[in-house]
Amino acid sequence: MEADHPHEPAGADTDQAPETDVPTLGDILLAAEELWPESLAEDWDAPGLVAGRADREVRRILFAVDPTREVIDEALEWGADLLVTHHPLLLKPVNSVAATTFKGDTVHRLIEGGCALLTVHTNGDSAVGGVSDVLADAFGLRDVTPLVPAGDGLPEEGIGRVGDLPEMLSLADFAERVFALMPAVAGGVRVAGDAQGLIRRVAVCGGAGDSLFDAVRAQRADVYVTADLRHHPASELRERAVTGNGRPYLIDVSHFGSEWLWLTPAANALENVLTDQGFAADVRVSGVNTDPWDFVLTP
Ligand SMILES: [Zn+2]
Repeated sequence: MEADHPHEPAGADTDQAPETDVPTLGDILLAAEELWPESLAEDWDAPGLVAGRADREVRRILFAVDPTREVIDEALEWGADLLVTHHPLLLKPVNSVAATTFKGDTVHRLIEGGCALLTVHTNGDSAVGGVSDVLADAFGLRDVTPLVPAGDGLPEEGIGRVGDLPEMLSLADFAERVFALMPAVAGGVRVAGDAQGLIRRVAVCGGAGDSLFDAVRAQRADVYVTADLRHHPASELRERAVTGNGRPYLIDVSHFGSEWLWLTPAANALENVLTDQGFAADVRVSGVNTDPWDFVLTP
């Protein structure tokens, strides 16, 4: 209402769109904390703001799995004010961000391009609507609970998820379902177990999940879907399963793919929180495939 605000400062953006505001980076950080509280992160992790000023306005936000060179190119070409990645750029402490190193160069390019960087890592895994929740949802699981509940969180928060399919499926049919949901990557999907074996209870963990084998067994899952499975843990889990009913079977997907599925729901969730708070920002998911593998040879 013009009459109520006769002394609105010049340049204030209230004339055309009084109902929405451009958020600052600080506003976005509050919204992100609401969705993915940093207290949910693992002790070894380093989520949070990597670069950026809290008072800067943020009009364009890009989500990606990895802060790779190609993703930074995409962010800067689009004019993003904020890049949100799942994986940290600086997980280990550094003594320098000189542009002579690739990580330092990344920090320089972001700052010089006016683009902030925020990491949502294991806090994004653990939160409700996090990486493993999205996988469980995509696979059609019901009665989903965390594989390992969060130390000081809600009962729904924690690492990994386990739940039941609405009906029995063969391992082969379920693997096809998983494959169809994943982005196209060179490594495809690897499966261990009897293709005709029937499954119903499914455990999932986005990213590298072989540290959760004990929880997968304790939950009596028929199959475990995760990424980055190494020879010895996978082999020993399968050897142990043979003495029982052959379960849990294993489905090994690409690390990138398992987390890429989260990007769109995460971007939508952030946009919804901002909208509820009267803010408007353009939120987009990166189109870059950051899976590191380019081709594979099979027999
Ligand atoms: Zn990951």
